[in-house]
Amino acid sequence: MLAAMPPTSPNPRNGGEAHIRERVRDRADACPGALRLHRADDGGLARLRLPTGVLTARQVAALADLSDRLGDGRIGVTSRGNLDLRGLPDDCGLTLAELLGGAGLLPSAAHERVRNMVVSPLAGLDGRGFGDVQAWARELDALLCAQAWTTGLSGRFLFAVDDGRGDVAALGGDVTLLAEPGGRALVRIGGLARRVAAGDAPVAALAAAEAFLTVAREAGTGAWRVAELPSDAALEDAVTSCLAGAGVAAAPAAGGALPDAAPPVPGLVGECAVSVVAPLGRVTTEQFRALAPGDGDEVRVTPWRGFVVAGLPGRAEAERRLAALEAAGYLVRPGSPWLAVTACTGRPGCGKALADVRADARPLDDPPLRGMPVHWSGCERRCGHPQGDWVDALATGYGTYALTVRTARRDNDDAHPQAQAQR
Ligand code: SF4
Repeated sequence: MLAAMPPTSPNPRNGGEAHIRERVRDRADACPGALRLHRADDGGLARLRLPTGVLTARQVAALADLSDRLGDGRIGVTSRGNLDLRGLPDDCGLTLAELLGGAGLLPSAAHERVRNMVVSPLAGLDGRGFGDVQAWARELDALLCAQAWTTGLSGRFLFAVDDGRGDVAALGGDVTLLAEPGGRALVRIGGLARRVAAGDAPVAALAAAEAFLTVAREAGTGAWRVAELPSDAALEDAVTSCLAGAGVAAAPAAGGALPDAAPPVPGLVGECAVSVVAPLGRVTTEQFRALAPGDGDEVRVTPWRGFVVAGLPGRAEAERRLAALEAAGYLVRPGSPWLAVTACTGRPGCGKALADVRADARPLDDPPLRGMPVHWSGCERRCGHPQGDWVDALATGYGTYALTVRTARRDNDDAHPQAQAQR
């Protein structure tokens, strides 16, 4: 008989719950970067931030060559649209920095871990959304890298730049820019909202981040994220002051819930782009190169472990590319049950793992759970788990996984009655 497992801590990432607001950080975050490698069981792990999410064909080739030369011949995509390189040797730092710098992927060594941004990946491709959010992201990144104080942000502080469709706005950014019709933008931080002219949006986002650092310093709690600040009240004065200091005219706006739209659907996007997903968020360098074989191809990395390939000359080429990427192993059809499956690193890469999670991960067939996002984890940290409602498949260490349904409301977490899956 299968035993029901009690719910364990789901640790939501940025919900602003009371238990987070009471937290005092006594150390800087340990997020890996491109230059600050994490030592994993399978070697060094480097995490490359891609603020706009965009890679040229030349950069795709450079990263694939880099992984073949220094790493394990694979590239991982994180839930923030960053890229992971694994299996790196201890002494690769200088070479890694040179190769990334040569590819134009490391504009500022001092800022490489704070360039955390997610941008609507279909912006400008499908006729939806408002404003040029790619230009906002580029400007915001340049502003971040031009200021010394921004290195005080944690490696977890996240900017979400949404073209108004509400896809990345739902990802829990610390500062969210939401494009609006009529050349306006909403700037959100915590429960606060300000409306600004679209042209001021990047400067306003930076000012909001400065307000966060000001309040975090005064609170003395070492907060890494906005949800860890004591309250929005202190933030309100700081936001007003920082926006004024930056010369941004801002009007108060209603806070309320941010929009929550679905991520890109795999398949054709308009006539000249395609959207695909990497199964379990990791591809071989051969698969990575297949994204952009042509010089004019543009690859956008999505925070849903996928890629949008843009700049294709027309529908016929887009259909050909989609077929080629399906043959290479990408998920290219909306109905695939694997779209709902994610997994942490697990064994052998992570020493905390109780199982080879990626080998065990699969879609769930049980009728009550079928279709729900399922995240397979090797331990209770549940790295990379989705937001919203999802099924938590947690390795028990005894060749099974405990299945628990997690809902967006933490107090509704519930153990599923069929609570174990065999490996
Ligand atoms: S969830 Fe646990 S086992 Fe999986 S990668 Fe994170 S720390 Fe490792």
